[in-house]
Amino acid sequence: MSGILVIAEQRRGELRPVSLELVSAAQGLRRAGEEVAVAVLSDSPQRFVGPLSMAGVDEILTVTTPAAEFDTDTFESAVGALIAQRAPDVILVAHSVDSFGYAAALAARLGLGFATDVFDARRIDGELVATRGGYGQKVNVEVDFPGRSTVLLAIRGNVFKAPESTATPKVTVFDAPEGKSRSTGREFIELSAGDDVDMTAAEFILTIGRGIGEEAKVPQFRELADAIGATLGCSRPIADAGWLPKSRQVGQSGKTAGACKLYIAMGVSGAIQHLAGMKHVSTIVAVNTDAEASIFGVAKYGIVGDIFEIAEQLRTHF
Ligand SMILES: Cc1cc2nc3c(=O)[nH]c(=O)nc-3n(C[C@H](O)[C@H](O)[C@H](O)COP(=O)(O)OP(=O)(O)OC[C@H]3O[C@@H](n4cnc5c(N)ncnc54)[C@H](O)[C@@H]3O)c2cc1C
Repeated sequence: MSGILVIAEQRRGELRPVSLELVSAAQGLRRAGEEVAVAVLSDSPQRFVGPLSMAGVDEILTVTTPAAEFDTDTFESAVGALIAQRAPDVILVAHSVDSFGYAAALAARLGLGFATDVFDARRIDGELVATRGGYGQKVNVEVDFPGRSTVLLAIRGNVFKAPESTATPKVTVFDAPEGKSRSTGREFIELSAGDDVDMTAAEFILTIGRGIGEEAKVPQFRELADAIGATLGCSRPIADAGWLPKSRQVGQSGKTAGACKLYIAMGVSGAIQHLAGMKHVSTIVAVNTDAEASIFGVAKYGIVGDIFEIAEQLRTHF
């Protein structure tokens, strides 16, 4: 068993961003000399060769499927055939609604090591160790796979940073056996999730933490965020208390501020689980009364001061 097989995801003709994040996740797992092959399944897989030709990809496997969109049976049979032919030691899929449909079944059928919702994976003394949440994301669980020569990991989106530079991987056509599909895609229906904010796409975020003290203080920071053109985010205690919806929580058990360029953290201490959601941010500004707060360790600009005073001063400018 050797090599890493990544299963890309596409929807409605677009490569899903998580596909390239999987390529980055693969880099931390590849052993010396091992190759990373990315398989893309579609009725016209060639169209994804360009978007997938990124640093870290050694080979692209195009797999032509009868249907344009994801299909459980087709994926289970085609990915199974890929594993049989390629004999990778690691297979990476996205932890997504698509993989829910086939990954567990495949792992059970082929006797693979298996973990879902993985946000960290590395080799420790040569052995693969995956980290995922447990007890409703309140603890981190490290999973190893003794006795399994092949491991399938479903990786959480927005955790690994996609490669930015391009490459010219070899392209191979893979003829998958025809699988019998028991379903037919009929139409796409967009579902709106109550609070429709997408923290992962926000470029400018103002985050409030427990330093705001009480729920009654939330509206003034919401107004400030609106005035300066930022998306309002929060740390976990604020979401746990129900002061803001969970969709606004940044961090390990919340959202990753993957597209954020400017992040203002007000009254946030900078716990490691919060920092996990902002590790891709280029400019962090922190306001905290405690000069020793960990958030200052990652901030480009820090203000040791009271968030209410700073908020008021900022407000006078907007
Ligand atoms: C498995 C697991 C997953 C987790 N996931 C997440 C996650 O996704 N996101 C997350 O945020 N946390 C997460 N946590 C919780 C995390 O460990 C911290 O408890 C949390 O981030 C702390 O939030 P905070 O910084 O708002 O609060 P605190 O740590 O209480 O910090 C409040 C800060 O406000 C400052 N402050 C107080 N008053 C003022 C004032 N008037 N002006 C300026 N500063 C002031 C204080 O000095 C302090 O630094 C997770 C924990 C676990 C165990």
